[in-house]
Amino acid sequence: MPITNDDVHAWLKAFAARVQEEKSYLTRLDSAIGDGDHGQNLNRGLQAALDRVGNEDDIATTFRNTAMALISKTGGASGPLYGTFFMDAGKAAPESDELTLEHWAIMMRAGLGGVIRRGKAETGEKTMLDSITPAVESLEQAAQAERDLREALLAAATAAEEGMKATIPMIATKGRASYLGERSKGHQDPGATSSYYLFEAAAKALGNG
Ligand code: ADP
Ligand code: MG
Repeated sequence: MPITNDDVHAWLKAFAARVQEEKSYLTRLDSAIGDGDHGQNLNRGLQAALDRVGNEDDIATTFRNTAMALISKTGGASGPLYGTFFMDAGKAAPESDELTLEHWAIMMRAGLGGVIRRGKAETGEKTMLDSITPAVESLEQAAQAERDLREALLAAATAAEEGMKATIPMIATKGRASYLGERSKGHQDPGATSSYYLFEAAAKALGNG
């Protein structure tokens, strides 16, 4: 089953619901190595996105409207980064109103490219890139192997989760957590955690046909 615009809306809803549910947890993670606002920030941005998004005719517009809401309402470092993720992923959307796994992998790769460009970070620096990158690589491998969409989305969520956990022993070298240096060790990165929810939500909401 391909991914439709309705599926994309369901994905955003599932992501927003998960972030709302875990708002305090995300904020707690950010209190340990940042300034304790990640849950609030992202919840505010995603609720704004849900208010704004709904009547788009095509997937590219849904992504663009989500990006604009996230950029204007999220705040913090994560707002522009998530905003750019959605903006660049949307720009890579094909004309078609139904996406294959291959399209999805291309869009997620473009979103990742936007985060890298804007944040000037790379994997291993204890940021959201540590969950997004393995998830995108997993999607690309699955697309190449012509795997089933559902299976591919589940594998990508698992890859993101592992990437999230792998941030625990890392020393942050980007973002606020980098101010702590060595003391950032032993804490899971809040942005990598919310990015895991993004891919977890995809596995839940997309390709159910
Ligand atoms: P702020 O750090 O401004 O308070 P948030 O708390 O909303 O913003 O988001 C913090 C998260 O943003 C971090 O956990 C990290 O994952 C992510 N982040 C910060 N800087 C960068 C960067 N340069 N590149 C990628 N992700 C980053
Ligand atoms: Mg913060």
